[in-house]
Amino acid sequence: MIKSPETAMMGHGYKPELSEGAVKPPVFLTSTFVFHTAEEGKDFFTMAHGHTPAQEREMGLIYSRINNPNIEILEERIRLWDGGADAAAFSSGMSAISTTMMAFLKPGDFILFSNPLYGGSHKFIQHFLKELGIGTIGFSAGDSFESIVGQVAAAGAAGKLKMIFVETPANPTGEVIDVRMCSELAKHFSTEDKPVLLAVDNTYMGPLWSRPLQFGADIVLYSATKYIGGHSDVIAGAAVGGKSIIQSIKAARTFFGTIIDPHPAWMLLRSLETLKLRMDAAAQNAAHIAAFLQNYPGVEKVYYPGLRTGMSERQQQIYAEQYTSFGAMVSFDVAGGEPAAFRFLNALRHIKLAVSLGGTESLAQHPWSMTHSGVPESEKLQYGITEGMVRLSVGIEHHEDLIRDMEQALHAARL
Ligand SMILES: *Cc1c(COP(=O)(O)O)cnc(C)c1O
Repeated sequence: MIKSPETAMMGHGYKPELSEGAVKPPVFLTSTFVFHTAEEGKDFFTMAHGHTPAQEREMGLIYSRINNPNIEILEERIRLWDGGADAAAFSSGMSAISTTMMAFLKPGDFILFSNPLYGGSHKFIQHFLKELGIGTIGFSAGDSFESIVGQVAAAGAAGKLKMIFVETPANPTGEVIDVRMCSELAKHFSTEDKPVLLAVDNTYMGPLWSRPLQFGADIVLYSATKYIGGHSDVIAGAAVGGKSIIQSIKAARTFFGTIIDPHPAWMLLRSLETLKLRMDAAAQNAAHIAAFLQNYPGVEKVYYPGLRTGMSERQQQIYAEQYTSFGAMVSFDVAGGEPAAFRFLNALRHIKLAVSLGGTESLAQHPWSMTHSGVPESEKLQYGITEGMVRLSVGIEHHEDLIRDMEQALHAARL
């Protein structure tokens, strides 16, 4: 009967009668769970190992590194936004990403990934996976199908590819990657005994405005620290996908111990009830801010897909197909490079100077020297990151207050 995830967030997956009638789930701060009988305990373990027990029964609770009521309710709700069959919740976005990669990649396999990536993901692939003997191939957000096929062949990876990992839109420039094209690439390189999995980091536009499973992705990954948590008070992550894929990811999670704790899981349940309200409000504010910045003297370029500045036809087309909003991230270049950008950031009074994104409060940062400081200068320039660029994560304050703050900071920076 219920069709919209925002409705389901109020009660789906929770039975009040199992918790003294409490309208909201209590926090189940327990490490372990009591079995009714030894036979039941035996069967739960049989099922946890992926086998069928002697007597058919529903899987039960064992131990909070494997499962826990708050975590199960959370997974049941997160999966709805993406239309996935199952989800796995993690202690952070990085633990979701690293555990997923470790679940499927073995020495000798190759991973193909898009550039630029979140710094943590990039380092994990290029340093950690490489050292394990996993081949890595990076492509640029704007590359065509044929060009990527050529790059995989040139790396000697045809037949060895196991995973394609993309992050779209690219941060902080907003360049978008065609998920459907990546799914075609995965099909192109799949063999009978080696299916190629497509994983999409959907942190920037998901789960509300972007649903990569609809475009052929196998796994959707999140830093739930961002929009899903939404209040900058919790670190968490998630993976969403089909039953067997998520089962493999959960099996790896049990060994790595990267599951989320019950308390942050409970916090995310609360956050999910307002997810749509928060994301919609932030997106509306971002549109106001982009319009304000567009013609402001001293602001050289505004990166916001709603303005279409500098976006190719192809990019606009992918954008229209893949997303249902222009999002709530706005970047802009100020004239005068780093010194001018720093003067602006230091003059802000309300907007906080901090990395991260997706919270109720607006944040500003300098990608060149902060989030992307680990990227070599030549690559930064190649991706379109400039020394005068400021990235804003727009929150849900009144847009006029945000614009007033930016105006006085632009003025103080003499822009
Ligand atoms: C923040 C972020 C991550 C890492 O998530 P954590 O929750 O900080 O571990 C991964 N990918 C993207 C796109 C992010 O913004």
